[in-house]
Formats: sequence, C-alpha cells, structure tokens
Amino acid sequence: MQKFLINKEAIDAGKAVIHGQDAKHICKVLRLKPQDTISMTDGHGTDYTGRIDKASFECVDISILSENKSLTESNLDLTLCTAMLKHNKMDEIIKQITQLGVTRWIPFYCKRSIPLSGQKKEKKQLDRWRTIAKESLKQCRRSCLVDIMPPMDFQQVLAFSKVYSHRIAFWESSDRPLAGMVPGENNKAVVLIGPEGGFEKKEIELAVESGFISYSLGPRILRAETAAVSACGLIQYLLGDMGGR
Ligand code: SAM
Repeated sequence: MQKFLINKEAIDAGKAVIHGQDAKHICKVLRLKPQDTISMTDGHGTDYTGRIDKASFECVDISILSENKSLTESNLDLTLCTAMLKHNKMDEIIKQITQLGVTRWIPFYCKRSIPLSGQKKEKKQLDRWRTIAKESLKQCRRSCLVDIMPPMDFQQVLAFSKVYSHRIAFWESSDRPLAGMVPGENNKAVVLIGPEGGFEKKEIELAVESGFISYSLGPRILRAETAAVSACGLIQYLLGDMGGR
C-alpha cells in the first residue's frame, strides 16, 4: 500500500490527521476503516505506522503506533540538473527520478534550453513540479521528497556543484564510460543533462573548468528525458542502492 505524507509538526500527542484528497482516497479507493493500519512519512526521512481511529471522506484520524528512520532512501546524495525542456517532459522526469531515489532536482537555463520567462510562470511551474513530486513519493513509498529547486542559470549550477565529490556532465561527444566509478569521499554526485539541441562545446568546457568530467551514455543519442532517467538509474546502481548493496 502507498505511503501518505503527513506534517511532522502537526502530530500532537501521538495523533495525526489526514485531510482532503488523501482522506477521500483512503476511504473511497482503499476502503480503509477504523482499526486498519496505515503507512505514513514526513517526507524528510521518517516513517510512521498508524492505526485509523475514525475515517470519513473529509478527514482520517490516526493514532501513531511507531516511528522509524526510512529504509527506502539511498546513501547516495544525487542531484540531477536538467536543461529546461518542454513542460510535459519535465513532469515525466520528476515522476521517474522520484522512483530512482534522486535527492535534488535543478532545472537550468543554457544556450539551447526552452525559455520559461516571467516570475509568475516560474512560481506556478515550481508549485506544479512539487505537487508531482509528492504524488510520486506516495506511489513509490519513498520517505524523502525530491528537493525541487527553482530554475538556475548555467553558471549558478556550476557554482552550486562545487561541493560534490562526483561532478558528471553527460555529453554525446564524450567517450568516457561510467563503469568503474566508485563512491567518493562524501558520496555526493551531481549530474548535468543538456537540452534537446545539446550543450554547446563552450558550455562543456566551462563545466570541465568547474571540475566536471564529461561522460558518455553509449553510442546512441538519447532524448534528454531518456538520458536523465538512464543516467540516474546507472549512477544509483554504481554509487547508491540499486545494485543491491
Ligand atoms: N545535440 C545532440 C544532437 O542533436 O545530436 C543531442 C542532445 S541530447 C538529445 C540531450 C542531452 O542528453 C545531451 O545534452 C546529453 O546531456 C544527453 N545525452 C544524450 N545522449 C547521450 C549520449 N549518448 N552520451 C552522453 N550524453 C547523452
């Protein structure tokens, strides 16, 4: 069964309440009733098991039975930076990378990215992306929400990436394979995926000057969204928890 998101601050004397669409889902779709158990998370790494005390379409009252640290989060701190693509592609990336255990997602502008101008538009997009991340978390039973950051420009992304032990720029002209990569001193990896038109050579040179290494994803040219998802899966396999370690 899926995990429900609750606000840690709203837990009072061992009691929690779930409202809105989630309450409706619990009653109408899952048909849970008083005395049934339910899984919850605060979205920041703590999971809860609860018992339903009262359930209606408007709100579900729960007694917390136990609290434990998540078992579904990777020890790899993985940040994916994707150049701005068309909206539906960005939505799909968020759904997929939530399942792949990505920690943070940074959309960015570069020479060939799709523009998204205007602060109002940006705020609306950000809200939409964060809602998608919440829905995806519930489905895949993660315990940490993907930290979705506001769009940055390319230079800001490079500056932000300085603290990562692995700085990985995927570039179709690179012939360096990913295989052989081992966890670094802080096991933090940041990944750059370019726009549909690809990175300009100058952008890759700037990334390399900032400590990135350019890597290949094989001989075929992948769509940006395919490249983003494949890259996260491969890196989670090599450095994180998808290799069964
Ligand atoms: N400019 C390229 C072209 O039209 O030939 C395509 C760019 S590709 C659609 C979008 C992004 O996906 C690239 O900037 C890169 O980050 C990543 N990518 C796609 N295929 C790749 C590959 N074989 N190796 C490394 N990166 C790849």
